[in-house]
Amino acid sequence: MPRPIRAVVDPAAISANIIKIKQLLKGVAVMPVVKANAYGHGLGRVFPGFQNADALAILEIEGAAMLRASGWTKPIVLLEGCFDDADLNRAIELQCDWVVHNIDQLHDLEKLASKPLGYKPRIYLKLNTGMNRLGFQPTDGAAAIAWLDQFATRNAWSSPVLMTHFANADEAEPRDRRPLAEAQHQQLTQLKPAHWQSSLANSAGILNFPELAGDIVRPGIAIYGASPGPHTAASYGLKPAMTLSSEIIAIQSVKKGERVGYGSRWQATEDGRIGVVACGYADGYPRHAPDGTPVWIEGRIASVAGRVSMDMMTIDLSNIPEAKVGSTVELWGDNVPVDLVADHCGTIGYELLCAIAPRVPFHTV
Ligand code: PLP
Repeated sequence: MPRPIRAVVDPAAISANIIKIKQLLKGVAVMPVVKANAYGHGLGRVFPGFQNADALAILEIEGAAMLRASGWTKPIVLLEGCFDDADLNRAIELQCDWVVHNIDQLHDLEKLASKPLGYKPRIYLKLNTGMNRLGFQPTDGAAAIAWLDQFATRNAWSSPVLMTHFANADEAEPRDRRPLAEAQHQQLTQLKPAHWQSSLANSAGILNFPELAGDIVRPGIAIYGASPGPHTAASYGLKPAMTLSSEIIAIQSVKKGERVGYGSRWQATEDGRIGVVACGYADGYPRHAPDGTPVWIEGRIASVAGRVSMDMMTIDLSNIPEAKVGSTVELWGDNVPVDLVADHCGTIGYELLCAIAPRVPFHTV
């Protein structure tokens, strides 16, 4: 029998999550973010789930090529733009749209002036309104916008989009997230030409400030059924698209006071049983998961007991008498949200989803 660990992805969950966002934001174009191999789900594997999206946003040009090869004919937007001339040529070949976030990228467009391209590229001009990562400062924004507007008109390209990225939209308290989001929205609105569209919101923006989201939204994590912030994805009606599970491969009886695993971190407070699960940090499960991190087994929550090792982890089975060798253990999925595991580990669901190791076999529902 093969090692029992597996990741199961569900394109139908992605499709349902896109529909949920469309219901929340009527009339807004939904452009899921599929970078990093669809947040670790496998772009090719979950591709059928994106059919009702209006466009797709990605970072990697090879991912864009894969989307075109799979038959995606709607817009593809390269989120960090083109890195060099080869990238630019490839973007054109694949009929992509792309982000321009600095003056060099803007002037690179001149290389394409008056060239027959076979389509009308749409440029997303990125403003830095407070994230201080990528984008034109608003003080330089007006000149860049005027330049691009003229360029697009002169070359009969599509009307550009003014874009920015919310910095604090995922904060737990409205008072910590709303003022900056409103200020970012205002800066963009002041500069946006009437005939351009806007794009502001990631998942947290969509869920927390639908009224500030703009014309084209860019949900990432929500599409995969995880949460961008402290509220659970289920509370927004989102369905997890990935389940990571394995099985119990051994059971140890431990006496009160005995310790378990490297560093003897966990100690039994009474006589009990420890389940050994075929999943370790070399599979992508965080080594720093503390005791108490939840897993799901035989219809109940059990918890990590002892340090996660490379290929195995140990869980406390004291309250799960029916657990046996071969019992399925859900590490995250419908019953244990990836965000809950991430909370215990001091990280975010995004990181866990993206970190599944290549040796873990994937299956599609
Ligand atoms: N827009 C941009 C520019 C991003 O870089 C990302 C992700 O990092 C997103 C949207 C999607 O963010 P989220 O996954 O939080 O929805």
